[in-house]
Amino acid sequence: MALREIRLAPDPILRQRAKPVIEVTPKVVALLDDMRETLLAKDGIGLAAPQVGILRRILVVYIHDEFTELINPEIIETRGLVIGMEGCLSMPDEGCYVRRPHYVRMKGLDRNGNQVVLEATGLKSVALCHEMDHLIGVLFTDRKVEPTPSEQQLIDESNKKQGFKDEMVDPAVLSVE
Ligand SMILES: [Zn+2]
Repeated sequence: MALREIRLAPDPILRQRAKPVIEVTPKVVALLDDMRETLLAKDGIGLAAPQVGILRRILVVYIHDEFTELINPEIIETRGLVIGMEGCLSMPDEGCYVRRPHYVRMKGLDRNGNQVVLEATGLKSVALCHEMDHLIGVLFTDRKVEPTPSEQQLIDESNKKQGFKDEMVDPAVLSVE
């Protein structure tokens, strides 16, 4: 395994569309391992292959000590809405609020090349959708929103409840359906 260099905005590769993986080769598995290691080293929660200079549809998310990885991911279904402060390893000095689905169901391939379906809510849904955006050249700052006063109230309540323990704050839930 090896650390990969993270491409920083405005690197033009971050604005390109990633291509599907044709076959899950040992090279793809090695990339997944490197992405995991890089994510841990950078204390991040998500990484998409274009962020390490590889224009392929591959993402890795690390939340609550658990890795989730998908090759050729697709969103099958979304529900609800959350709002939360996001950041990105490719834009280390930026942070802004973004609205994302509360729930997401996705399909893709695992590292053995098997078709898998997964579901996620809250912070994990946010992270997966953020990484999906990277695969089509979209950055989170493109989706920047200013919370409405009632949204800000929900954010404050949600943050207070969580006690600002670390950067991994769950987003405020706006709706679940
Ligand atoms: Zn990002």
